[in-house]
Amino acid sequence: MSEAPLDEFGLIARYFAPLAAAAPGALGLTDDGALIDPEPGRQLVVTTDTMVAGVHFLPDDPPDQVGRKLLRVNLSDLGAMGAKPLFYTLNTAFGPNVDTAWIAGFAAGLQADQALFGIDLIGGDTVAMPGPTTLTVTAIGSVARGCALKRRDARVGDAVYVTGTIGDGALGLAVLRGELDGLAESSRAALAERYRLPRPRFALGMQLVGLAHAAIDVSDGLIADLGHICETSGLGAHVEAGRIPLSPGAQQALILDPSRMESIVGGGDDYELLFTAPESCAAQIEERARACDIPVTAIGRMTAGSGVTVVDNDGRPLASRVSGYRHFQ
Ligand SMILES: [Mg+2]
Repeated sequence: MSEAPLDEFGLIARYFAPLAAAAPGALGLTDDGALIDPEPGRQLVVTTDTMVAGVHFLPDDPPDQVGRKLLRVNLSDLGAMGAKPLFYTLNTAFGPNVDTAWIAGFAAGLQADQALFGIDLIGGDTVAMPGPTTLTVTAIGSVARGCALKRRDARVGDAVYVTGTIGDGALGLAVLRGELDGLAESSRAALAERYRLPRPRFALGMQLVGLAHAAIDVSDGLIADLGHICETSGLGAHVEAGRIPLSPGAQQALILDPSRMESIVGGGDDYELLFTAPESCAAQIEERARACDIPVTAIGRMTAGSGVTVVDNDGRPLASRVSGYRHFQ
């Protein structure tokens, strides 16, 4: 038996109010705004990301995964600032093809990740949309006053670190597009999973406050995002391709087709942390990363000058990004 469609208030009451139940300041999503008590001595960090059906996710992607990815890409940005997640708001513009089963799945995905990452819904808006479903989360975190990690604070001689493995997001998207047929099924599944469900690294981001100089999350691609640190810090960076940590699936893809290195260093959607820190902090960084169970790898160094240079094992430049986007030579 099909149910009568829910109006805006019905949708909020059924699917979204339960996500706000643990946050007193959300007032049950029945008021005009939410209340936040800033913690003494801390600053709020606010970040937002929008996902559009057909652009950032596929209309037939599982709705719970869409919800989880939407939350995770925002948590990744909080992590890049060294912030502890607190609350989020959610704006949903549901397209004509979305039914209540889809919304229920989407809300279940949000609920699962709220519990996993310790963040609560405190507000938002829900509308019907004649165009593609468009979903926006605005995440709010906090960091000790004056201590947020920023892109602009890298210094010459800093080591450049990444968490986890690089390139899996872009390779996962390639798998979902039907490419990379030669890979083992287990590798294809692992890469696709990395694209669908990034792992936000804020647990380590919070621990890097006071140690790292500059940080960003890898959403545009390793070279592009390190390029953002270079531009805002007025520096260059030197990366050794052989030190870039690769998953078994990415290693396999590279053996099958060495030109995949381009999408490994150039592709996006990894949502790993990329940060710079003085050499003297190496032992502390490794210790805190171990405590968070998040692997970190030093892949290069900040230099005077400008642009990102990636060199192969023989020291030959593999790629460079001097200003703006540049293709591989
Ligand atoms: Mg970011």
